[in-house]
Amino acid sequence: MFGNGLGQLIWDTPSAVRVLVGITASAAMSASLFTSKTGNAVMDSRVWLIVIPGILILSGLISARLQKKEDRIFEKWTDSTVWYNRSFMFYGHALYTETARAKDVRLYRQDRAADREMQALEEHNRKDDKALGSMSACQGLGELSKETAGALCSLFAAAKAGLGAFPVGYIVQYTGALTQLVRCIGELFFVLSENRIYTEHLAKLFAYLDTPDARLQGTLPIDGKIDEGEYTIEFRNVSFRYPGSRDFVLKNVTATLRSGKKQALVGANGAGKTTFVKLLCRLYEPTEGQILLNGIDIREYDREEYLKLFSFVFQDFSLFALSLGENIAAGRDYDTARAEECIRKAALSERYRAMPDGLRTILYRDVSEKGIEISGGEAQKIALARALYKGSPVIVLDEPTAALDPIAEQQVYAGFDGMVKDKTAIYISHRLSSCRFCDEITVFDAGRIVQKGTHEELMKEKNGKYLELWNAQAQYYVT
Ligand code: ADP
Repeated sequence: MFGNGLGQLIWDTPSAVRVLVGITASAAMSASLFTSKTGNAVMDSRVWLIVIPGILILSGLISARLQKKEDRIFEKWTDSTVWYNRSFMFYGHALYTETARAKDVRLYRQDRAADREMQALEEHNRKDDKALGSMSACQGLGELSKETAGALCSLFAAAKAGLGAFPVGYIVQYTGALTQLVRCIGELFFVLSENRIYTEHLAKLFAYLDTPDARLQGTLPIDGKIDEGEYTIEFRNVSFRYPGSRDFVLKNVTATLRSGKKQALVGANGAGKTTFVKLLCRLYEPTEGQILLNGIDIREYDREEYLKLFSFVFQDFSLFALSLGENIAAGRDYDTARAEECIRKAALSERYRAMPDGLRTILYRDVSEKGIEISGGEAQKIALARALYKGSPVIVLDEPTAALDPIAEQQVYAGFDGMVKDKTAIYISHRLSSCRFCDEITVFDAGRIVQKGTHEELMKEKNGKYLELWNAQAQYYVT
């Protein structure tokens, strides 16, 4: 917020040189003040050689100490601005401007909570004003110590001139030189302290920039065999906890995903299914264990190439305020026929026909007056079409039909085989009836895989989690 990065250090260098030259020159110009004699034993005493520089050094030390105090206040203040700015951006801005939050803000009167938080920020601001006041007091006292030192030196020069050591005109030279000396010493401390602050900030920045990105380290290309559809992905004793968290979200997970198979991941909320998929797409690294593609750790593959193998639709997918075609192709250029084919497979044809500009229709009104608003279910279908357009050999769908109406859901499932064809499909769904046609169902419970098998096999396990989940859901459908 305040730093000018490396530029600040570069700009400070001439200041430091100027200050050092200033100190040398003014010390040289004031040397004869001490050597010229008045004939008065007190004024000619060598003690002044210690007293005057002593006063200068003392004033320098006092202003340095005050500077340090000011730095500490400043540091504390800048630290608190991180929280302040985040809170302000959320309560004062995002909460009111994000359309996704608009309904809840109004219906649950979350504006009141925002007001309360904004008042807390005001309160914080008042404290900040005090902090800034203390900083000004430090600055003022520092100036006072420098001015007092300058005045004492000038008094000494005036006394010597009065006693005839040098003509009165020299007082101006000595006072100027000594004042300059005091200022330069003060500035030296200022430059040093400013550099200390900036280097600390830069150290944080560089430490951040130097964070090794394990995701980008692999270089192995994806070989032809994989492209042709022969691959096996294996989770081998994978455990994972999110950065900064102590609890394992996945524990000792071992699973094999085979090409061409349709596999379902089921389990209660928070069981770890999405996390499993996030590890698969290398958004995170396993804390323990390995994920292997054809026997090779996925970290060794070139990340871009590896990711081309997958099309994902996450629960919390996001679309952009671009045209429908650009959203589906995830790029500027697109093949119209292919995009329309994906729209059909994602059961979006009817809505598509009503769109004013076809694939050129802009989604949302964030950046265009002509943009159209779409429902949650329509957005989910577009996200599905985007995954299909990518045409990757593995398609991963996290709750792909959660926002769809029953007819659209049925359409998507009816077309699912055609959509997926000989691709590998991994999908997470709470609608167990839609998982029953999968080749394998993997059941997660509290971060562990507790069951694996086909629907028929799992239904036979009388004390199994799958049967429990199935029964819980089935009771609402039995008439
Ligand atoms: P599921 O998909 O089975 O509902 P998730 O994999 O999304 O479950 O979540 C598993 C657990 O991981 C949850 O308890 C959740 O709170 C936690 N979790 C998810 N995302 C994060 C995150 N980014 N940081 C910390 N914990 C997370």
